[in-house]
Amino acid sequence: MNLNGIGMTSLRTRARLINSLRDMGITDEKVLSTMLDTPRHLFVDEGIATHAYDNSSLPIGYGQTISQPYIVALMTQIMLDGKKPAKVLEIGTGSGYQTTILSKLVGTVYSVERIEPLLKQAKRLHYKLRLRNIYHKLAKGNTFGWPDVGPFDGILVTAAPQTIPEELYTQLAPGGRMVIPSGKDNAQQLYLIERTSGGFTKTRIESVRFVPLIGNN
Ligand code: SAH
Repeated sequence: MNLNGIGMTSLRTRARLINSLRDMGITDEKVLSTMLDTPRHLFVDEGIATHAYDNSSLPIGYGQTISQPYIVALMTQIMLDGKKPAKVLEIGTGSGYQTTILSKLVGTVYSVERIEPLLKQAKRLHYKLRLRNIYHKLAKGNTFGWPDVGPFDGILVTAAPQTIPEELYTQLAPGGRMVIPSGKDNAQQLYLIERTSGGFTKTRIESVRFVPLIGNN
């Protein structure tokens, strides 16, 4: 496993990506330095590793994609809000890249994925990278998230439902923050849902494009 990378996967190439994230408005230095330290090229096929530090989403097989670095940075920054949440749920492990970023910035990450081979591969990588604060689960049927271990201080959803499932709201702890895309294929928006003492608030962030969250439509 080449952690440092060479040529198009080198630290210098990574640093260029981090600078463009900064230019696009990412301000959380912890998020930026975590992304600088994390070898994204290990989370994609060797054949496309030279594109790992482009600011774009890339195929990871099974019709799924690893999210664009800007979107990973934005969602993480918004969910963290400058703090260190103890318990975070990720829905859509995929390549395991976003999980890795989270694991370095929060207490414990609970990540669920419905495609078993993707989950297994991500788990293997997390083990090799010695990330010990990640719990993985295969998502089955029509339930979302991980109700048994919730509620969570943060929830990050990396696939888009047409409307936000009710059961995700109930897995958010008081004071918790959920970042989630939703809407029809070509009209998705990213939202921040906050659980306050009086209920929930919903704030629109920006237009996005995610693979669909399977199960509720
Ligand atoms: N965070 C990932 C992005 C993967 S794409 C990364 O950094 O690579 C979104 C993932 O969500 C896909 O792997 C897809 O299989 C998964 N997914 C879709 N619906 C799901 C559901 N209901 N429960 C869990 N995972 C789901």
